[in-house]
Amino acid sequence: MGHAVQLTDVVKTYPLGEGQVVAVDDVSLTIGRGEFVAIVGRSGSGKTTLLNLLAGIDRATSGTVHAVGADLGSLSESGLASWRGANVGLVFQFFQLLPTLTVAENVILPMDFAAKIPPRQRRARALDLLDRVGIADQADKLPAMLSGGQQQRAAIARALANDPPLILADEPTGNLDSHTAAAMLELFTGLNAEGRTIVVVTHERDIRDVVSREITLVDGRIITDTRLTGASA
Ligand code: ADP
Ligand code: MG
Repeated sequence: MGHAVQLTDVVKTYPLGEGQVVAVDDVSLTIGRGEFVAIVGRSGSGKTTLLNLLAGIDRATSGTVHAVGADLGSLSESGLASWRGANVGLVFQFFQLLPTLTVAENVILPMDFAAKIPPRQRRARALDLLDRVGIADQADKLPAMLSGGQQQRAAIARALANDPPLILADEPTGNLDSHTAAAMLELFTGLNAEGRTIVVVTHERDIRDVVSREITLVDGRIITDTRLTGASA
């Protein structure tokens, strides 16, 4: 099994007043292709920072981040953006759909950006993806017309736009009721079963029933890294 992600001695600090905050504190971590990993830990423990480093949204202060075949530190800003657009599907707590575009247009946008899918196939592909997440009938509505659960389904369809091997989700169920949250995790399970690597930051109590590995952060450090049986990878 090849590596989807490899962090070596990664430190991320942010300036704070005269000093600095160490958000990620010397993390080394390898995630294999096809793993389904949960990142857990209290607020402020560095979960979002770690995910943003994997997504190339943030740059490491020191250490190296390799993800889906690229050394992220060696890429330019535009290089990072195209790498991300083609290889990473991002899902956020507050969905972050563009409010003035329809749901289908939101899903098409990353296809336009990456230019991996031929233009004439984009709308049909968006509808297929929306069908897959169960909201094909909402395709031509604006996001505000949808429930929270439907908006997160749309965001997952958008994350799949360019068929990325790596899905990164930051508290994707944090703003959903427990029933809707469970349905969302089921969607992730299906995506993982197709061989996609998934890293999800979550507070879901039952996450251990779903993922193959759980990593706990405290103060920017990995304090436990547990392989779980019964899950896929
Ligand atoms: P979590 O997602 O686990 O709540 P974060 O990764 O958001 O944790 O934050 C980790 C630490 O880094 C916290 O102390 C937070 O205040 C700090 N931090 C995160 N982002 C920034 C930023 N852009 N500027 C300054 N400090 C930040
Ligand atoms: Mg966070």
